[in-house]
Amino acid sequence: MTNRAVGLADLPLRPELVGEEPYGAPQLDVPVCLNVNENPYAPSDRVRAEIAEGAARAAGGMNRYPDREATALRTRLAAYLGHGLRLENIWAANGSNEVMTHLLQAFGGPDRSLLTFAPTYSMYPEYARNTHTRYLTEPREADFTIDPARAVAAIEQHRPDVVVITTPNNPTGTATGFDVLRPILDAAPGIVVVDEAYQEFVQPGVPSALELLPDHPRLVVSRTMSKAFAFAGGRLGYLAAGEAVVDACRIVRLPYHLSAVTQAVACVALDNADEMMAHVAELRAGRDDMVDWLTAQGLPVVPTSANFVLFGAFADRHAVWAGLLSDGVLIRETGPAGMLRVSVGTPEEMAAFKTSLRRILDEEN
Ligand code: PMP
Repeated sequence: MTNRAVGLADLPLRPELVGEEPYGAPQLDVPVCLNVNENPYAPSDRVRAEIAEGAARAAGGMNRYPDREATALRTRLAAYLGHGLRLENIWAANGSNEVMTHLLQAFGGPDRSLLTFAPTYSMYPEYARNTHTRYLTEPREADFTIDPARAVAAIEQHRPDVVVITTPNNPTGTATGFDVLRPILDAAPGIVVVDEAYQEFVQPGVPSALELLPDHPRLVVSRTMSKAFAFAGGRLGYLAAGEAVVDACRIVRLPYHLSAVTQAVACVALDNADEMMAHVAELRAGRDDMVDWLTAQGLPVVPTSANFVLFGAFADRHAVWAGLLSDGVLIRETGPAGMLRVSVGTPEEMAAFKTSLRRILDEEN
């Protein structure tokens, strides 16, 4: 390194980045991690061995660039989603974070805007900032649902180029039904992204926005393998849409953006989809149990369709968060004032959370 330390303030940073912090939940080495909505179950020994074989096969061709079109992977993703979707309807990238960035690079940008309904996923304003897209947000109702008439009025007022509806929503867990999505799709002048990162956790029988794709050429359904699919470390997000939307993403992506290893191991995971998702029903039941338990402790809880629960309301939520951490339980300080979000873990992890929270509540009284 040079002798003279150069700080960020000495660099010609873009003005809108001055004072910004890198995004991220604290990554702490503690026994119970219930902070980033992962699936707590690691792949089985058999799947682990297959993933290693897939990576080894990719290693054999490491001198070559990977398949730029990720054909084998996108074909498998189409088959996983069903709904008559084909390779041409699927786009994939390094997490749905990158998928959303591609969408905003293609459909947002200078003099364009993105509209969301808050509270919602805290990365959306950052995707907007990074792509020079104006970020607009309208409040959800007091119960965190979206009122269709108010949403349509906001769309008519702002004429956003991109609307994102997150269902189930992070951090509230709130699901948004077709009664709300349809009027939004009818009113929106541009692209409507339905972020279904947590869709596999909704009650069986509740339909996905994938069903609306045939009648809505500007609808994009975003998914990820990071949550129910138990593949957060593999970094694989994807979308389903009309072929033209996929073509737009292909224009803005960096060449060879999905490494040979990523493509190979994600294919193995998809070939083992049933096993990767084996614990989803159990996690749904764990979520419902967590809602009941928190309610029984006298705490307000937001109804949730995801694998996490937003609860509160604490005068000093940081103290509660820190108290849990002192017992080795990491949850997330996020969402509306006084609220905390806990992900659903294994029965042992949830027991540790409950014991710790009960201790903190008892000490408060
Ligand atoms: N959308 C939502 C609503 C999320 O909560 C998350 C992760 N927390 C993502 C997208 C991004 O997930 P990934 O990049 O891991 O696919």
